[in-house]
Amino acid sequence: MDCVFCEIARGESPASFVYRDDAMLAFMDIQPVNRGHLLVVPRIHRMLMHEYDDVTLHRTWQLVGRLALALRHSGLPVEGINILVADGEAAFQDVPHFHVHVIPRNPGDGFGLTFPPGYEDMPPRPELDAVAATVRTALG
Ligand SMILES: [Zn+2]
Repeated sequence: MDCVFCEIARGESPASFVYRDDAMLAFMDIQPVNRGHLLVVPRIHRMLMHEYDDVTLHRTWQLVGRLALALRHSGLPVEGINILVADGEAAFQDVPHFHVHVIPRNPGDGFGLTFPPGYEDMPPRPELDAVAATVRTALG
């Protein structure tokens, strides 16, 4: 298996670690949007978030929260933080091993989101209600 995050987890590829334990890793992104941009990665290889068990997901998001707070206390420029998951190729997932980006943000840093045409036109409430019902059904 040729997965750079698994190689990092096995110690076969270098990383600048912030945190390591039996299940979790956190290390600096090698192409940071801003200084302090880090990745939180479960050691177990799965591509998508829903493929993990609840305990691993809990540990992931707990660590994300701790690291976001650590960034705010770090002395690095951090006026805000984006927590970003690219869950699947259509969502711009680049490494096929689930990971959470924790990205320090500052005004004018040049990073941003692009919204599609028509984004400003809010859909009518019945449409929102219908979509909500669809998702509720899938939720079970
Ligand atoms: Zn992997």
